[in-house]
Amino acid sequence: MTTPTTAELGHRRKQPNLVEIGGFRGRLISADHADYDIERAVWNGAVDRRPRLIAQCIGTADVVAAVRFARDHDLEIAIRGGGHNVAGTAVCDDGIVIDLSAMRAVQVDPAHRRAWVQGGALWGDVDHETQVHGLVTTGGIVSHTGVAGLTLGGGVGWLMRKHGLTVDNLLAANVVTANGELLRASEDEHPDLFWALRGGGGNFGVVTSFEFRLHCVGPTVLAGPILWDASDAREVLRFYRDFVRDSPDELGTVARFGTAPPLPVIPADLHWRPVMMVGTCYAGPIEDGERALGPLRACRSPLLDLVGPTPYVGFQSAIDSTVVHGWNYYWKSTHLPELSDDLIEVIAAHAFTCESPRSYVAMFHLKGAVSRVAEGETAFGNRQASHAITLDAVWRPGEDFGARDTAWARGFFAALGRFRQGVYVNFLGGDEDPSRVREAYGDCVYDRLVDVKTRYDPDNVFHHNQNIRPRLSHA
Ligand SMILES: Cc1cc2nc3c(=O)[nH]c(=O)nc-3n(C[C@H](O)[C@H](O)[C@H](O)COP(=O)(O)OP(=O)(O)OC[C@H]3O[C@@H](n4cnc5c(N)ncnc54)[C@H](O)[C@@H]3O)c2cc1C
Repeated sequence: MTTPTTAELGHRRKQPNLVEIGGFRGRLISADHADYDIERAVWNGAVDRRPRLIAQCIGTADVVAAVRFARDHDLEIAIRGGGHNVAGTAVCDDGIVIDLSAMRAVQVDPAHRRAWVQGGALWGDVDHETQVHGLVTTGGIVSHTGVAGLTLGGGVGWLMRKHGLTVDNLLAANVVTANGELLRASEDEHPDLFWALRGGGGNFGVVTSFEFRLHCVGPTVLAGPILWDASDAREVLRFYRDFVRDSPDELGTVARFGTAPPLPVIPADLHWRPVMMVGTCYAGPIEDGERALGPLRACRSPLLDLVGPTPYVGFQSAIDSTVVHGWNYYWKSTHLPELSDDLIEVIAAHAFTCESPRSYVAMFHLKGAVSRVAEGETAFGNRQASHAITLDAVWRPGEDFGARDTAWARGFFAALGRFRQGVYVNFLGGDEDPSRVREAYGDCVYDRLVDVKTRYDPDNVFHHNQNIRPRLSHA
């Protein structure tokens, strides 16, 4: 370890910010701080914004102080949970980032199957603590995704068909509203706000903690991917369509089209080979899962079948290294109905035509418990759709795939035009037309969200997001 020079020490001592926020106990980071570039970076390396101040909160009081400070100084606010949103809404130019990344505590009450999760926690934090008790709630499929942003948009994952979306398991949330007031939202307290938080995104306030319902799953589940050569994708997809239509709710699947990633569990001779992969996770007894998955595993001689009993926590981070922080990402997305032969043709024709070996298509199978909750019961829209597809252009810094694969994603999306059936708000990129936010909810849910927004944030203080504009806003 090298000893810092006097000049370096002097530089570090200068780092306390020029800005002070009364009563704030966390870190305040402005452009003169040595960590500024690290702390303003989000998951998507294509996003490069320079906030005036990053307020890294260590508790609810800090969040209240930061919201009031921002309002007093007329600063634009961005809210950061896990920093994973592809549109990069967790960071803004010139304004203040209210950053909850230091607030990651998770507390579990196994007797009542409840978890309390702070607003900056990641899904890996939640799984780590809840699986000690063999408990889970529906979370995302990458462990470094933030709980807050994912939950507030809805939350799709392996367990949703059995246990509902993440929002279907949300019991309460503590929220700092636009005027710096702390409210608890639940079925009994501010029920309109509670309804809006279950799908309406970060439009209504800063959530400092969530309370979730837990279920018994794990610590070992039957899970893993099955891989087929890309040339088999059309036939496998037809089989998959019929297979998932009749599959039990316990079975969660995500189909992925792209090259086989160089994961240690995948033999080296398959790395970078174009494949259709179906990720599976069975949220029930292993033997039942073996029976349920049998027909899919027997379909058209897979290249590789990695399905087996596996620790749920490990499975939840199995693909983390394929979606690395700091690479560049561009997504297009839509919900889809059941896969007709025509729709399968469109998917098969476009899925393998990207240039970057890291670009891919992911398609989550929905239905089950997702579609049994009535439309409008929460603010998550389009519950009757069968699949949510994302067309993900990925290129590393310095690689020149960006323009071509962005065009690929847009062209593929255009080809899906007549099949589109709404969209998941959390899969929207940064260059979407604002009409796509309405599309994410449908007219009835969207109009109700506008009512709640107008009540709790009439000045549109929280607008650096997939924005729901209040009535008569000037922001
Ligand atoms: C690799 C990858 C995998 C993904 N997998 C899934 C998946 O399996 N299932 C799924 O449903 N989604 C998934 N997503 C999408 C994910 O839901 C969104 O990216 C979500 O926004 C991530 O939440 P975050 O807290 O990390 O976001 P951030 O980028 O930190 O925040 C995004 C927005 O959420 C709001 N927000 C964040 N924190 C708070 C808070 N504490 N209070 C109020 N508002 C807040 C703000 O409006 C903010 O602009 C994935 C994304 C990526 C990049």
